[in-house]
Amino acid sequence: SAAAAGAGAAHDAAASPAPDSGVQVVVRIRPPCRVDEEEAGEDGRGPEACVRKTAGNLVAIQGHVQGQDFTFDAVADAVSTQEDIFNLVGRPLVENCLSGFNSSIFAYGQTGSGKTYTMWGPLSALSEDSVSSERGLTPRVFEQLFSRIKEEQVKHADKELTYNCVCSFLEIYNEQITDLLEPTQRNLQIREDVRTSCVYVESLTKQYVFTMKDVTQLLLKGLANRRTGATSANADSSRSHCVFTCVIKSESKNPEDGSSSTRSSRINLVDLAGSERQKLTHAIGDRLKEAGNINRSLSQLGNLINILAEISQSGKQRHHVPYRDSKLTFLLQESLGGNAKLAMICAVSPSQSCKNETLSTLRFAQRAKAIKNNAVVNEEKVEDVNALREQIRQLKDELHRMK
Ligand code: ADP
Ligand code: MG
Repeated sequence: SAAAAGAGAAHDAAASPAPDSGVQVVVRIRPPCRVDEEEAGEDGRGPEACVRKTAGNLVAIQGHVQGQDFTFDAVADAVSTQEDIFNLVGRPLVENCLSGFNSSIFAYGQTGSGKTYTMWGPLSALSEDSVSSERGLTPRVFEQLFSRIKEEQVKHADKELTYNCVCSFLEIYNEQITDLLEPTQRNLQIREDVRTSCVYVESLTKQYVFTMKDVTQLLLKGLANRRTGATSANADSSRSHCVFTCVIKSESKNPEDGSSSTRSSRINLVDLAGSERQKLTHAIGDRLKEAGNINRSLSQLGNLINILAEISQSGKQRHHVPYRDSKLTFLLQESLGGNAKLAMICAVSPSQSCKNETLSTLRFAQRAKAIKNNAVVNEEKVEDVNALREQIRQLKDELHRMK
């Protein structure tokens, strides 16, 4: 790329533009578990799954017309492990990130389909000192990130390569943002930096992380503060969107010529609220309002995916895309059709009783596949800045002389 080709570029020039900025869509069919067993037949055998992986990354759903199966970048089923998911989406995310690309992973799906299991893993696997095979994507991503940072520093020992990672963790619930690292901070506001047009959450706690222990502590703290709402329709459904963000800044100095460059990239790891149609029965007052508001962020995500997919497919100009109509889409607008790589893990249950929701998740996933993002390396070279400063100085001189 032009940016990396300049003389004295201290960062690894291998940073190439994103070869494919399409959204990576992975479907994960979770194994049958205890809740599904209630459906087991009289003969005691488990229920037949209503959805299965077929050859060529296809998903077939029972009762759907043959030849109209859904196709994705990858399909993970009951035999796929947490490590498989990490290899599919986590490893590439870390490499993208080290190359200076913003990168996000969203977990979408109905309650009970395995989103939380996929993104963080069971809490017991996080708190254990031993390395559990059930650890989710997030701890694995950071483990890989720290190890790759060390590798890069060794590889470029001739340059002073420094990294810092700053994390935050928030929840969107009922269209209100709560700081999961400091839960007394509620109803935080989203702001936009007019200069960089960067979107951020005002006064959200930021915490440096240096080791896995730091990351694990943040995760455990944040997840413990996550809210759950109980309704008669869904006793322990997760109605909040959870966003774990890490900004990674690296600076590379070339001691020979004194040049330097900085790169920064942002990782968003997002565990979305359950995508099931909110059942409004028995929900009254605040609960009813809540259901509407929770739907706003998710339905707005669905709307945007439709709009962006249509734009990509038709090659039409982008007019107004309504990012600001919900907290989730405002906050994560860069991940949706913007300057970021996006992977979407669409989690589905194998259960017969979930068939309609599974079908709707697969349709959502198929539309997401059509979106094109526009990811670029976020790099700034000090020589460039100095050259601009010099230019400003000369122009000021000139202006002064003209007076
Ligand atoms: P969601 O966050 O989508 O509501 P969870 O991640 O909480 O769903 O998963 C629901 C239940 O299924 C949990 O008990 C979880 O441990 C289990 N589970 C989900 N996915 C898997 C999997 N791939 N392997 C084993 N258990 C799983
Ligand atoms: Mg969950």
